[in-house]
Amino acid sequence: MTHPAQPKASHFINGEYVEDTAGTPIPVIYAATGEQIATVYAATPAIVEQALSTAKAAQKEWAKMTGTERGRILRRAADIMREHNHDLSVLETYDTGKPLQETLVADATSGADALEYFGGLAASLTGEHIPLGEDWVYTKREALGLCVGIGAWNYPTQIACWKGAPALACGNSMVFKPSETTPLCALKVAEILIEAGAPAGVFNVVQGMGEVGGALVTDPRVDKVSLTGSVPTGKKVYAAAAAGMKHVTMELGGKSPLIIFDDADIDNAVGGAINGNFYSSGQVCSNGTRVFVQKGIKEKFLARLAERTGNAILGDPMDEATSFGPMVTENQMNIVLGYIKKGKEEGARVICGGARADMDGYYIQPTVFADVTDEMTIAREEIFGPVMSVLDFETEEEVVARANDTEFGLSAGVFTKDFTRAHRVIGNLEAGSCFINSYNDAPVEAPFGGVKASGVGRENSKEAIKHFSQVKSVYVRMGDVEAAF
Ligand code: NDP
Repeated sequence: MTHPAQPKASHFINGEYVEDTAGTPIPVIYAATGEQIATVYAATPAIVEQALSTAKAAQKEWAKMTGTERGRILRRAADIMREHNHDLSVLETYDTGKPLQETLVADATSGADALEYFGGLAASLTGEHIPLGEDWVYTKREALGLCVGIGAWNYPTQIACWKGAPALACGNSMVFKPSETTPLCALKVAEILIEAGAPAGVFNVVQGMGEVGGALVTDPRVDKVSLTGSVPTGKKVYAAAAAGMKHVTMELGGKSPLIIFDDADIDNAVGGAINGNFYSSGQVCSNGTRVFVQKGIKEKFLARLAERTGNAILGDPMDEATSFGPMVTENQMNIVLGYIKKGKEEGARVICGGARADMDGYYIQPTVFADVTDEMTIAREEIFGPVMSVLDFETEEEVVARANDTEFGLSAGVFTKDFTRAHRVIGNLEAGSCFINSYNDAPVEAPFGGVKASGVGRENSKEAIKHFSQVKSVYVRMGDVEAAF
């Protein structure tokens, strides 16, 4: 019998499911059991061509619609998404292995938030009138054209919506390529947009590995590329886009600092560290994986952290009581276990976890290392798994310098009751998305993105509009033209 997660076909182009079994088969594995639940096929050159030519043709008519009309469709899609939240959350769990306890509140819901927010903004995307005596200039905010979205595997529904919603609100069309690891959810986003009334061809999904992404990025018809992925992939995609002078948004990896001063509320700080390391089993780009704890409260912090981490419930992700799921793939599990081994070899102290969980599926115990120093591999490289490194510090000046000593700059957090210090420290940290007495909140109303190697551009908020549109300025002369001859 066909598994309920098996999509009707691999791709969604011009308003309908499309199949081409000549492409490389991509097995979809459920991370909680290792069982193959579906198969899709990578896009062949013919499928890539079909998606790009369709999206190119559909964009012009879409951009001619009023913002109110486009916005209404996006907001309708948000409503449909919320109506189907349960089914979409189950699918997200099959796609990623993340527990239903999370997916019910974080995935289709945040996708719906993006569709609703950008749907609401679509009608207000206007230009300026600039008076110049008798003459004047007016500006128009115009679509970029055909956009390509490429997703990572940790938030397949959210990433498709965070890219698709602002792109469509501005009058662009999109071809979206999900990660080969999680190909299922973006197809549903495409289906819902059609049900909401989006014209066929405005949002298309094609499957495939890096080479399909590469074919999309290098196509001369493409005006913009928005990637969520690792820094090495970001460098390649940015370079390929630059060769065609295309616009880019790069949402890349991080090794973010979370700084806990000795006056912080310990339980809130522990909660922040848990949210910033163990949500989605640690597979979150903005995670605060370098937890700097001021020396005076170190042992108290570690004891409370170990106690609360012991309450994590590892188990069947479809059971709503489960609060901690498996790694997305066996490969990702092995990468993370490799880092845990390195942490031990390099002398970090295991406070809790530190091994694969004794159960089926790709589960790793939530792991806390203490006595981590700045040079250790686990303090320098993005692990993308449930591995928290706790480092000691003494002074504010010292911790800010150490926190900034990394190529990354995605997020940063500080816990303290001293608000003057909180704002000063955040002001001195090199990061794009920051938190005071909290960690990992990502409301659609707030800009999200990194500095340094962690990225270029911003998603969400009004900032995203700037990255999916361009300004045309028009000089209007009311009198005669003066010329030298
Ligand atoms: P990857 O960088 O491996 O892949 C990202 C996407 O790019 C995938 O769809 C991948 O295809 C595709 N791709 C790979 N090579 C190319 C290429 N040459 N041209 C075009 N596309 C290509 O990231 P992961 O999927 O492993 O995701 C984890 C990473 O994503 C982490 O570093 C994490 O920090 C980052 N991330 C960043 C977020 C942010 O908002 N800043 C949010 C979430 C994750 P495929 O893998 O299918 O071959």
